[in-house]
Amino acid sequence: MRTANHSFSHSFLQSLFMAEYPIPTTEKDLETSFEQIKPYMNATMAYYESARCLFCYDAPCVQACPTGIDIPLFIRQIHTGNVAGAARTIYDANYFGNICGKVCPTEVLCEGACVYNHQDVKPIEIGRLQSYATAQVVEQGRKLYEPGPVNGHKVAVVGAGPAGIACACELRRMGYEVDIFEAKSQPSGLALYGCAPYKVTNEDVLEEVEYLRAQFQFRIHYGHPVESREQITELEKNYAAIFLGIGLGPTRRPGIEGEGLAHCVGATEFIEQVKLDPLSVTVGRRVVVIGGGNTAMDAASEAARLGAEEVTLVYRRSREEMGAYEFEYELAKSVGARGVFNAMPLAVLGEEKVSGVRFIRTRTEGGKVVSIPGSEFEVPCDQAILATGQSKRSAFLDLIESLERDGQGRIAVNPETLQTSNPKYFAGGDAVNGGAEVVNAAADGKRAGRGMDQYISNLK
Ligand SMILES: Cc1cc2nc3c(=O)[nH]c(=O)nc-3n(C[C@H](O)[C@H](O)[C@H](O)COP(=O)(O)OP(=O)(O)OC[C@H]3O[C@@H](n4cnc5c(N)ncnc54)[C@H](O)[C@@H]3O)c2cc1C
Ligand code: SF4
Repeated sequence: MRTANHSFSHSFLQSLFMAEYPIPTTEKDLETSFEQIKPYMNATMAYYESARCLFCYDAPCVQACPTGIDIPLFIRQIHTGNVAGAARTIYDANYFGNICGKVCPTEVLCEGACVYNHQDVKPIEIGRLQSYATAQVVEQGRKLYEPGPVNGHKVAVVGAGPAGIACACELRRMGYEVDIFEAKSQPSGLALYGCAPYKVTNEDVLEEVEYLRAQFQFRIHYGHPVESREQITELEKNYAAIFLGIGLGPTRRPGIEGEGLAHCVGATEFIEQVKLDPLSVTVGRRVVVIGGGNTAMDAASEAARLGAEEVTLVYRRSREEMGAYEFEYELAKSVGARGVFNAMPLAVLGEEKVSGVRFIRTRTEGGKVVSIPGSEFEVPCDQAILATGQSKRSAFLDLIESLERDGQGRIAVNPETLQTSNPKYFAGGDAVNGGAEVVNAAADGKRAGRGMDQYISNLK
């Protein structure tokens, strides 16, 4: 293992292994390694890009947005110089307008649906225009909203991720008093602890939440995990309704031999450290990432950008069956990662720390992964990253009475109101969809806020 302060000469190692990225040792190095892939536009760029929009009737980009932002309207507002109006159009539909412009998989959502794709012309850069407009109002602290008149009802939100915060904003607009209980010391959940640093900076994430908090004035109680039956009873007593925006838990370990060795880490835990303290992260010289989802792609990209010389992504099914978006795989490959498909991990090898991973070749038969006897092979490495999915927060959910879950442990909700089987509870985001995107969590939070209002209003 190497650390940022290792004793070998950095230039010597680089000449041997030709890593795509040097090991960052300063904040400046990090800026280079994690250079933003969707940097902010300036006013001239936004003017010209907005001029290309055809302002389509029944625009397909709007249909493709999970929050239904009126995209042609905000693009027109940018073009006519009404940037605050554009930001208002965006925030009316999505409280995470700024960071969604940066982290949304726009390639498969709004930009993927833009009519220009049918004409072999580059689609409108909707995400960057969205971030351009919202960044102006965030930077200026320009007030677009204020809380609704006090209605005398209190609501609790568990989890200050995108779902919880969006729910709080919506409820505050309707005059509810809102307390958010958050286990960690900072807001935004995986938008802060998960989203890749070359997509969005921590500053951008935190500034948007602060911008929302200053306008909507919800309270966030940090370092306040809700984890006991007593706490739940207390919440039920003090609040008219409770929103569960608790996301998912730590990496689900695959249960293979050697997975407890040093330098065998879960992808979400690895990425969290990269996000919070990147200079303290140790990456292996040779890294194996196990998994085929977007988190695997992010872990591979981040390891490569932190100076790993060889990054191998190994997925048990074929490339076509990977859950990751194609553009995420291309992004990982562009920084040096290589993909190995149809290979399943059997054991992580090593004495005390990782020295390799043993795999077996597979094929897919009737949708099932079948291993091919006698096809074992080993990939030497000094770090293994398990991107094998996140666990559900089942122990916490078991504490709540009559809370139904589906066969995969996700909280079951009414899709219209996001009310759970226990009528006092509503839920949304990753805990309900099993892990999607920030935009889905933001959309859920808003919808649940309205569902809660309906429920509380009917109690009166
Ligand atoms: C590595 C990674 C990269 C990602 N990259 C992208 C991306 O590029 N683009 C994108 O759109 N999406 C991305 N996502 C997904 C996105 O971050 C999530 O879909 C989104 O954050 C889910 O929001 P949420 O509010 O449901 O849950 P979370 O963001 O997980 O927030 C849940 C919050 O609840 C808190 N909490 C949990 N239990 C309790 C409790 N009992 N008491 C108090 N607090 C509690 C947690 O600490 C956390 O702050 C990524 C996810 C991962 C893992
Ligand atoms: S589909 Fe493309 S051109 Fe049409 S309104 Fe949306 S962004 Fe503009």
